[in-house]
Amino acid sequence: MRPPRIDDGTVVLDAFELGDVEACLAGEDEEQARRFGWFPERSTAATVTAAIGRRRESWEDDGGSYAFAVRDAASGELAGGVEVRVGEDRRGAISYWTFPAFRRRGFASRAVVAASDWALAALGLARLEVHAELDNEASNRVARRAGFAREGVQRSHTTVGDSRRDMVLWSRTAPEPREAAARRPVAVITGASSGIGAAVAERLAAAGYRVVLGARRVERVRELAARLGGDAHRLDVRSTESVEAFVAAAAASGPVEVLVNNAGLALGADRIEAIDLEDVRVMFETNVLGLLAVTRGLLSALRRAGHAHVVNVGSIAGAEVYPGGAGYAGTKHAVRAITRILRLELIGEPIRITEIAPGMVDTEFSAVRFKGDAEAAAAVYRGLDPLRPEDIADLVAFAVERPPHVDVDLLEVRPLAQASATVAARRPEPALAEVADE
Ligand code: NAP
Repeated sequence: MRPPRIDDGTVVLDAFELGDVEACLAGEDEEQARRFGWFPERSTAATVTAAIGRRRESWEDDGGSYAFAVRDAASGELAGGVEVRVGEDRRGAISYWTFPAFRRRGFASRAVVAASDWALAALGLARLEVHAELDNEASNRVARRAGFAREGVQRSHTTVGDSRRDMVLWSRTAPEPREAAARRPVAVITGASSGIGAAVAERLAAAGYRVVLGARRVERVRELAARLGGDAHRLDVRSTESVEAFVAAAAASGPVEVLVNNAGLALGADRIEAIDLEDVRVMFETNVLGLLAVTRGLLSALRRAGHAHVVNVGSIAGAEVYPGGAGYAGTKHAVRAITRILRLELIGEPIRITEIAPGMVDTEFSAVRFKGDAEAAAAVYRGLDPLRPEDIADLVAFAVERPPHVDVDLLEVRPLAQASATVAARRPEPALAEVADE
């Protein structure tokens, strides 16, 4: 049986032919093609033809190997290749490569999904495996995005030469579509109804996680989750019952590999002589007790996942102090302490702990802090380029996508124009006359 033609609208898979081999040889990515196993050490037109000939025989003779060319559906250009090799006990292995111009564009994961869907159904395979080098972040991401489950790390499986490497084994069994969704690793994100939390949800969903989102404005998180193929639940981190219900629903969604404790707020900026203790109470209940309650509630689910990651969204106010910050900076100092304590308490377990500590980020944060005073909120960001929520989401993804032995402890990040909580370089306001002239 030859591989069929599969078209998912973005990639087209069809049988890998001699012309494709020549295209690879002529391309800049010959080494990748060799790694894929297509070429003898010194390729010539004759040896390549012979190699292809052998492949063709094997397709027809023992059905052991099915090689697809992967093309860009729009241009028809060769983007890479995928090969399914069939072993014993209805088990198969899949490998792939892409030309540099088609990397980081989702081609590889789409091709692996299409080829593995076909192999599981048409070849009746019970299980497919893909191996990714432990330190190859991109390969592990492709496996995750393609719906493979991470099984563990194996020593000495080799893809190139005789090198001995640590390889992550990923597997997929013939799934129902719903089951496939349930097998994706889960990332739980609190406070995902706006700002940083919403951007983190987008970013982790794109990285292959099934996102479970919580916030009090449940309509907002429902809408986002529906778009991202995840789940959303009402969550008030200040309420014990709400946290318990949320945690139970999240733990039932699949293996919880990531928890992003992001829900948080500042209220007011008064000096201690005039501080509103009710505001301080709400901040501590949300930023500190809420974070502790969600973490405590999800810890057993994180342990069950086998390897997991807790990301706490702190702040530069976790290490700096400023007049008017007794409440908020107090809570974020506590977040830093709790993050470090969690690392001490979980040492020896496969759970990573990261604090991301941003400076000024343009979200609803200041509108909340100044209780709807739009002028005061706008003044915070006036005359400088603040960070965007996506900047923080990138850092969360960076920490989460490191190889399992790398634990990013603390990432502090601020806008270029911000040196501390109180020192920022602002562009001068345009004179009124200039504004009037526009
Ligand atoms: P944001 O746009 O106001 O988002 C805050 C999120 O927290 C919202 O989704 C909100 O959802 C949620 N939240 C607040 N109280 C909650 C509660 N009781 N239960 C559940 N969710 C709650 O502000 P943001 O800037 O993205 O803030 C996210 C995190 O970043 C916070 O921890 C904040 O301290 C931190 N941070 C922000 C900045 C900045 O400059 N923006 C800087 C450093 C750190 P609902 O209102 O729908 O519940």
